[in-house]
Amino acid sequence: MLGRLARWLRVLGFDTTYGHGVSDASLVRLAGEEGRILLTRDRHLLRELRPAHALEIRQDEPLHQLRDTVTAFALAPPAELFTRCILCNTPLPPALEPATAQALLPPGVRGIPGPVRQCPTCGRVYWHGSHVRRMRAALERALPGWLGHE
Ligand SMILES: [Zn+2]
Repeated sequence: MLGRLARWLRVLGFDTTYGHGVSDASLVRLAGEEGRILLTRDRHLLRELRPAHALEIRQDEPLHQLRDTVTAFALAPPAELFTRCILCNTPLPPALEPATAQALLPPGVRGIPGPVRQCPTCGRVYWHGSHVRRMRAALERALPGWLGHE
């Protein structure tokens, strides 16, 4: 139920796994083994299983959840957005050569300026379109001044 928060954390480049369909006990064990901070809305889980590093998420809006997470851990802003695949968490390799990139883009956005990257794991293609501007604007509203200027 925190899938959208997980995507926002990946937009910011934070290494984020999403434990959909994993039992509470496995989630706590995996978080410990992988040195992760467990983000959860489940107060019962926190009380019963006492994960070493955890944050209870109380907000409903994903961007408010993100703001609380950034604040709680005093997370530093990334130098760049979209350096990690938002679907599968894989770090994205450097931008593709223009000729390769153009062939992968949907017809409507061919010729668009800016880097094009492709996830080596799931194949998702990332380019700097209007969705990137909208997401950046949403981040600016949720965390005014935090990202700095680009
Ligand atoms: Zn991917």
